[in-house]
Amino acid sequence: MPILPRADLKVGFACNNRCVFCAQGDKRTECASIPLTELVDRLKSVRDRTQGLVLTGGEPTAYKHIVALVEAATHLGFHPIQVQTNGRMLSYEAAITALRRAGATEFSPSLHGSTAEIHDGLTRAPGSWEQSVSGIRNAVRSGAVVVTNSVIARSNVHDLPALTALLASLGVRQAQLAFVHPVGTAELLFDEVVPRLADVVEPVRKARDLARAAGMRLVTEAIPYCFLRGMEELAIEDEIPHTTVVDLDGQIADYSAWREAEGKSHGPPCESCAVRARCEGPWREYPAKFGWDEFVPVEAG
Ligand code: SF4
Repeated sequence: MPILPRADLKVGFACNNRCVFCAQGDKRTECASIPLTELVDRLKSVRDRTQGLVLTGGEPTAYKHIVALVEAATHLGFHPIQVQTNGRMLSYEAAITALRRAGATEFSPSLHGSTAEIHDGLTRAPGSWEQSVSGIRNAVRSGAVVVTNSVIARSNVHDLPALTALLASLGVRQAQLAFVHPVGTAELLFDEVVPRLADVVEPVRKARDLARAAGMRLVTEAIPYCFLRGMEELAIEDEIPHTTVVDLDGQIADYSAWREAEGKSHGPPCESCAVRARCEGPWREYPAKFGWDEFVPVEAG
């Protein structure tokens, strides 16, 4: 199936969580929301070169015109339409029904731990785990495509297998484990938040085995191949569609190119690495802090 180009629209940065790894940092206070007409105009400006749509933020379900925005996107012919959410609002059946009726076809809710203690510790929002778990259950039940996202941070590395098992038990068919991007709040709290890549390998392997046994597809983001030996199939980067990010201060016409050129980086070990051509490398803030000693090039063959 061809991978369709998509737009990634930021609806504003208000959020009912306060995640320690939030990439948007202080934007929540600088721009809580954007007028509906302006967002629709932004959608129109990218419609001729995009097909799918991801509504993100901040927390898109905290945007008071979210249903009207989904309706407008549907009328403009966007398909699929994904709501990338922390999942809390999906715990309300009425919210999910309204979004589905407006044309939302996919949900990408987040869950960052198998227990309230781990998840709420990361979101700094007591009660968020319970709501997100219930939201994921509702999203699955609604018949929408559900692709969960879990950020890999220092405090949940050991929990990744249990988290994977929980997601499978909720009926999730595809789950993503994304290594934390150390920007925004995550950069401010770097020492507290960012784990070592080497410590992630075995928990991810156990999570992969559990997902396989449960018939759930597990993928990873921002874990280079040298930390995915024997499980290279997990890397999602090749399948991320051509994305135009429509942000507050303009557009990134090709987010994949930006990711490779500016977001991520390569270092001395990569020069002799057999998979250099297809590997984006780690987020550049990671080796800037820890150096390249952990990275061992992949050998050919
Ligand atoms: S190119 Fe660099 S980061 Fe990527 S797998 Fe090879 S050594 Fe690791």
